Amino acid sequence: MSETLNSRPTRVAVVGAGPAGVYASDILAKAQKKHNMRFSIDLFDRYPAPFGLIRYGVAPDHPRIKGIIKALHKVMDRGDVRLLGNVDIGSDVSIEDLRAHYDAVIFATGAIKDVEMDIPGVELEGSFGAADFVSWYDGHPDYPRDWPLDAEQVAVIGNGNVALDVARVLSKQPHDLLSTEIPENVYQGLAASPVTDVHIFGRRGPAQVKFTPLELRELSHSEDVDIVLYEEDFDFDEASDEAIKSSNQIKTMVNTLANWLIEQEERTEESSRKLHLHFLHQPVKILEGQDSNGEGTGKVAGIRFERMELDGSGNVTGTGEYQDYPVQAVYRAIGYFGSEINGIPFDSKRGVLLNEAGRVLDEEGRHVPGTYATGWIKRGPVGLIGHTKGDALETIGCLLEDVGRLPQAQNPDEDSIIELLESRGVEYTTWEGWLKLDEHELSLGAEASESGEVQRERVKVVPRADMVRISRAQR
Ligand code: NAP
Repeated sequence: MSETLNSRPTRVAVVGAGPAGVYASDILAKAQKKHNMRFSIDLFDRYPAPFGLIRYGVAPDHPRIKGIIKALHKVMDRGDVRLLGNVDIGSDVSIEDLRAHYDAVIFATGAIKDVEMDIPGVELEGSFGAADFVSWYDGHPDYPRDWPLDAEQVAVIGNGNVALDVARVLSKQPHDLLSTEIPENVYQGLAASPVTDVHIFGRRGPAQVKFTPLELRELSHSEDVDIVLYEEDFDFDEASDEAIKSSNQIKTMVNTLANWLIEQEERTEESSRKLHLHFLHQPVKILEGQDSNGEGTGKVAGIRFERMELDGSGNVTGTGEYQDYPVQAVYRAIGYFGSEINGIPFDSKRGVLLNEAGRVLDEEGRHVPGTYATGWIKRGPVGLIGHTKGDALETIGCLLEDVGRLPQAQNPDEDSIIELLESRGVEYTTWEGWLKLDEHELSLGAEASESGEVQRERVKVVPRADMVRISRAQR
């Protein structure tokens, strides 16, 4: 069956205009011709600007990854997917509203929260989730614009690419970030930071890191920052040897680390900042400072680790030896976690929507008709942005199979959702609105380039109200 019963296009809402949502919309729009079907697709986002993780999660000094926006821009520019930004599904529009207006809903809401870390002291002032810091330096409209950068020594927990991003941004000389799209207050904050030492701590060994080779090597490109490694951390068990043999990525990264260890012996000049990489360190407690009366200050003053040893399988066991490091800030980069969507079955252990191949399931394992998931909210926060394309293909494949039995929307008219938004006073933004905001940010970049020493392509507009005003301005 090519269309819904009354021969109108099948109405599909995609929630989340990050890469997962845009890829899914793109694949669905292109499927129309091949499968002789018609879809009318609305792509919602809670932020006034599209591109989700690429705009608000990728580090500003990663222009290659930020460049994926160009491909997403092309998709949206075709005009067969309608963007409705600045709309919060849950408060502005309920799940029931979506069901009333669309025959199918695809959730592509990603994973934006930090995994919780259950150790004493995690609540102290100076203990931060990496996701929050990333949102701050990427100019996220919903995060406070101030960030306390007053620590000289910092610990970053985790051996994934987010830990590398956070440690690199914290340790980089701020003028090296000026050519990126960081907002002015982020540059000012980083420029005033007294940081001298950033320590990255992994709980397993050098052959168990979750980094990727390019991102690891990039650490050595920061000016005036020395990488420091510790020989006693270079331990390899049988599983490590196997990983080095079977994975080129692991082999490359272990070689990179081993070369850095050798090179540091030959270093003749010291840089003003140091980036330390520690392995086999399991965090057990964040330590609180004490004032002169012996009272707790409520602030981070250090972190305690248990020394771990490899157990042969690539996992670790505790040795019972502990070591404290004086640090005034701790960043926990131990993974992201998806957020629950009211009324949609959620796997609270994995932080994903319960689903099979992208079909959202209820508690009994039955498909919730017309409901789908794609991207990190479908499979969890692992993998690079390109991997979400495969995800979207699978999810859209399921939707295409189900087209004939989708629950029918009561208000399928394309205008009816706009009328609903307007009746509720929702200041929604559109693709045309994004083009205006994009042009505005690029012009701010050109202005800054003329008046400063550094070429800046874009200066991001951060306050939500300004983003909405510029996007909705009449030409
Ligand atoms: P990740 O790759 O899953 O790494 C999480 C790290 O945290 C692992 O080293 C893990 O160690 C450690 N960890 C977990 N729980 C811990 C605990 N309780 N105590 C100490 N350490 C703990 O997660 P991510 O860094 O958030 O990255 C998410 C995804 O985004 C990844 O696929 C990543 O490649 C991607 N990403 C890519 C880029 C890029 O520039 N290309 C940038 C950012 C993110 P174990 O291995 O021992 O569990």
